[in-house]
Amino acid sequence: PYTGPTAAEILAKRKEYLSPSLLHFYKSPLNVVDGRRQYLFDENGRRYLDAFGGIATVCCGHCHPDVVDAIVNQTKRLQHSTVLYLNNAIADFAEALASKFPGNLKVVFFTNSGTEANELAILIAKLYTGCHDIISLRNSYHGNAAATMGATAQSIWKFNVVQTGVHHVVNPDPYRGVFGSDGEKYARDVQDVINFGTSGNVAAFISEAIQGVGGIVELAPGYLPAAYESVKKAGGLCIADEVQSGFGRTGSHFWGFETQGVVPDIVTMAKGIGNGIPLGAVVTTPEIAEVLTRRSYFNTFGGNPVCTAAGLAVLKVIEKEKLQENAFVVGTYLKEKLSALKDKHELIGDVRGRGMMLGVELVTDRQLKTPAKAEILHVMDQMKELGVLIGKGGYYGNVFRITPPLCFTKQDADFLVDAMDLTISRV
Ligand code: PMP
Repeated sequence: PYTGPTAAEILAKRKEYLSPSLLHFYKSPLNVVDGRRQYLFDENGRRYLDAFGGIATVCCGHCHPDVVDAIVNQTKRLQHSTVLYLNNAIADFAEALASKFPGNLKVVFFTNSGTEANELAILIAKLYTGCHDIISLRNSYHGNAAATMGATAQSIWKFNVVQTGVHHVVNPDPYRGVFGSDGEKYARDVQDVINFGTSGNVAAFISEAIQGVGGIVELAPGYLPAAYESVKKAGGLCIADEVQSGFGRTGSHFWGFETQGVVPDIVTMAKGIGNGIPLGAVVTTPEIAEVLTRRSYFNTFGGNPVCTAAGLAVLKVIEKEKLQENAFVVGTYLKEKLSALKDKHELIGDVRGRGMMLGVELVTDRQLKTPAKAEILHVMDQMKELGVLIGKGGYYGNVFRITPPLCFTKQDADFLVDAMDLTISRV
């Protein structure tokens, strides 16, 4: 049993010693002390179904024994910087990761986070093209350092960062966007921005396939092929940010960009890649990767032995336990049940996403699509009381984000939907 400080004591320390910008979702925040697969346990041993942790950390499930063993064994043997010596862990994981990509995408740079991965991708694109201009989608999230905060396009995540040369194009959002699900129409804005906002040449276009922080917005079908075409014509590189949508989460495909049938020039990833271990990666072609030899480039701990040992174990677990297939089967089942819930409750304006990356948007008026900001907080809190943890996002903060560990079961899906049904009924 847990004998550490109580939630109240931790909260008090947090208020005194930790960043005042740290946020928590719940009225009385949860002190989680243990994790097993898709479950979290609080200080009293109460179990919660974790329908959000899949994005934050785990794709294989909390404390997956294979991943834990890989971390422990490598830690006992050696932990060191990535740069100075040879080590098998980084080479083996790079090889295994590269095998997951189409085309000539086979050179891997490791980082410690998604932000670092996107910063590096943007740097590489600028070096390769000799251009400065970056195009990203409104409502996107790509990180919180200089270039990535510039590319991120939601005011709530931006600190007045200097973002010269970043252009934010119309978001191909099938629910709120003006062109509905017509991806090609939205993509015309990419061409317009190139024509009217740049010299005609750009460094890169960066986008998620399904916007995570933005509230699980799946790009309208046909958008990426058309946008990529305009960008390539302008000499730019196409960057796919797979920090949330990668590693089988969409169920139908291993990478989110594959759902739109495109092949990017650079792919970035983090979060689920190490099942909770700080790790990120940039994958590109040998020709593009070459630009980083113009100067010295290194990252002290990006791809260190312990983190890459974890990464390799994650890939093996995804395969062994058929987690992508599970994401497809259980995710499809869950989406159907959520859609049925939409027929029952006026408060649900939209159900979307794919696999285990699903969104439920709450609105107080279906016609006007008025964000149900207060209602969502209440439902979220009540679901926690019933033992279900769920995420929230979107510009208006009114979208449930359901991104569980990929080992989520149909019974878990039933429990989640029952809990949501009951709490919404009581609103
Ligand atoms: N890209 C996407 C799509 C993300 O969701 C995030 C994190 N929310 C990042 C990049 C940044 O990752 P990190 O927090 O690891 O820096």
